[in-house]
Amino acid sequence: MKLTEENYYSREANQHYMSVSQFKDFDKCEAAALAKLNGEYSEPKADCFLIGSYVGATIEGDYALQKFIEDHPEIFSSRGVNKGELKAEYKLGDKMVETLLDDPVCRQMLEGDKEVIVTAELFGVLWKVKLDVYNPDEGRIIDLKTVKGIHERYWKNGKWVSFVENFGYVLQMAVYTELERIEHGRFTTLEPLIVAVSKEETPDKAVICFDEESLNYELLMVNDKLPRIIAVKEGIEEPKRCERCRYCRSTKKIDGLIHYLELTMGS
Ligand SMILES: [Zn+2]
Repeated sequence: MKLTEENYYSREANQHYMSVSQFKDFDKCEAAALAKLNGEYSEPKADCFLIGSYVGATIEGDYALQKFIEDHPEIFSSRGVNKGELKAEYKLGDKMVETLLDDPVCRQMLEGDKEVIVTAELFGVLWKVKLDVYNPDEGRIIDLKTVKGIHERYWKNGKWVSFVENFGYVLQMAVYTELERIEHGRFTTLEPLIVAVSKEETPDKAVICFDEESLNYELLMVNDKLPRIIAVKEGIEEPKRCERCRYCRSTKKIDGLIHYLELTMGS
């Protein structure tokens, strides 16, 4: 299957290819991930996703921004004194873009080809990824993240972590660089970097780098978990339910009692 701008996010493409978000879905809850793939379940798109896409489209250029506006007319106020104007959160989006482009380092990091599709075989399966900014001449791959706060802390698996670990971005950057390396037959990988901008009233910004050890560790984890995920995806193994996520909550049937001391276990 040949991937294009139009079919990249289609169900057919997701069935044919593995992707980082699909991998993370399966890792979180196999039942929900499979229901999503089969078109039986979809998660409501949070507004914060749209802000990220708006910032991405604005940075990508006029054509991408026009297309985004056509697809999302709801970003403009439809009534009141501000009718026809950008809604407040998208005005903040403009401020975030300005913050990035006003900074010489961020601006330089955002130079390169935008939204580049890469497909390659990794650990026995075909993957698809989309690189926000691809600049092989400068030796880097950039992912643009719009975040609540750059130094925000999240509680995960019993410790405080940054947004990068909380949202699985080390894994994402590891897979992106490895796939790019494989597709182009390189011996060494390009440098993966995250350009982050915060949604605060005065946006903060950072260029975030990674170390080889952490990236390699994530690839090992992917290699470990992939056989099970593929078996579930192909219908060879039954999907397990996490009994915590939105999908599991919506399809849950009570089949017994739970002791009160068990309520906080495994969370
Ligand atoms: Zn679940």
